[in-house]
Amino acid sequence: MKVLVVGGGGREHALCWAIARSPRISKLWCAPGNAGIADSAQCVAISDGDIDGLVTFAKDNAVDLVVVGPEAPLVAGLVDALDAVGIKSFGCSKAAAQLEGSKGFMKDMVAKFGVPTAAYGRFTNPADAKAFVEKHGAPIVVKTDGLAAGKGVTICQTTDEAFAAIDECMVGGKFGDAGAEIVIEEFLKGEEASFFAVCDGENVIPLVAAQDHKAVGEGDTGPNTGGMGAYSPAPVFTDAVEAKVMEQIIIPTVKGMANEGHPFKGVLFAGLMIDDEGNPKLIEYNIRFGDPECQVLMTRLKSDVLDILDGAATGTLNTVKPEWHDETAMVVVMAAKGYPGSYEKGTEIKNVPAADAMDKVKVLHAGTKMDGDKLVATGGRVLGVTARGATVTETQKRAYEAVDAIDWEGGFCRRDIGWRAVAREQA
Ligand code: AMP
Repeated sequence: MKVLVVGGGGREHALCWAIARSPRISKLWCAPGNAGIADSAQCVAISDGDIDGLVTFAKDNAVDLVVVGPEAPLVAGLVDALDAVGIKSFGCSKAAAQLEGSKGFMKDMVAKFGVPTAAYGRFTNPADAKAFVEKHGAPIVVKTDGLAAGKGVTICQTTDEAFAAIDECMVGGKFGDAGAEIVIEEFLKGEEASFFAVCDGENVIPLVAAQDHKAVGEGDTGPNTGGMGAYSPAPVFTDAVEAKVMEQIIIPTVKGMANEGHPFKGVLFAGLMIDDEGNPKLIEYNIRFGDPECQVLMTRLKSDVLDILDGAATGTLNTVKPEWHDETAMVVVMAAKGYPGSYEKGTEIKNVPAADAMDKVKVLHAGTKMDGDKLVATGGRVLGVTARGATVTETQKRAYEAVDAIDWEGGFCRRDIGWRAVAREQA
């Protein structure tokens, strides 16, 4: 198969690395890719937002399957544009992408499908929003309806904080159009996990769960980031929890979306809150693999990823049964000093090949390029050092040995990725 992966971050490196292992692959491109992806795929200089450019490239090169990494091209209608010219893709339609693109749409849909989730209200004016907060009290959660680069959610401990968050969105215009409409919802307690299922519009198969660390600082402190690390399996996500998630959340959503006339194809990423009794509630849906969760999923996947991606694209997922390594996988993200605030670009990173050569380690690139013969950082999150091991403790040790082999003065990472799972294991 000739495959084009769209995107250029750590998630797309993980996908390209896994696809390149498939016996079914004859040619792999990635648009735009990055310096690490160039090991597995031919990078082409088309941005992930250039829908016309991507469609033209796929047509001109007789691409058999386009695998879309990030949410923005899905929300912008890339899959619809590819469908229109008869090119198969892994990813959902623009209409189904509203599950991530509009929190209000998502909440209305899952409420209709009977999925357990936080109680909520949708608002287009601040007075109504504040009346809802008065009625329900704090803690309470204020969310922009639209995509706000992961920054549109405010957990408010007091009603005053909630009023301020409402005003920031709806009066101050902090998030532009994304915050013109908001969702306010009940605060959920429990332990969070991310679960991934792949759908072909009708059939749905479970992948596995992961847990990530969003905060920049050790002990999950400091501002939120795109994700500083992740691991899989997630100990909180037992087989019993998975069965409830499939039955109460994933399957009703896939059936419901098909009934609504928006069949969901691609990967459904459920952000979940699991309470002390092991009952899950849906926090949010994303319509693509998580970054960095994809890195640990692809590290654990034993079977051919193309069977899964192509099965979703062709409506044949009922014949696919993914196999996984029993071992734990972990990714430690290395970011440029200063991230998620302002940071320097262009700092040199040395010794990545030495880390990459270590046993059960793979260094995935998120924001790198070659500057002559030097590898330099081009983004906030720059590398994802992944490792596999028999226990979480062993995997963590291996991942940090690889991190320590890398020589990058301009970078940093958290030293405690997986702490919750390590503590559980040692207890
Ligand atoms: P979201 O972008 O909706 O996933 O929200 C980002 C983060 O905010 C989540 O990963 C949770 O940690 C937190 N969050 C969102 N909604 C809620 C909620 N209703 N209750 C508790 N925490 C939440």
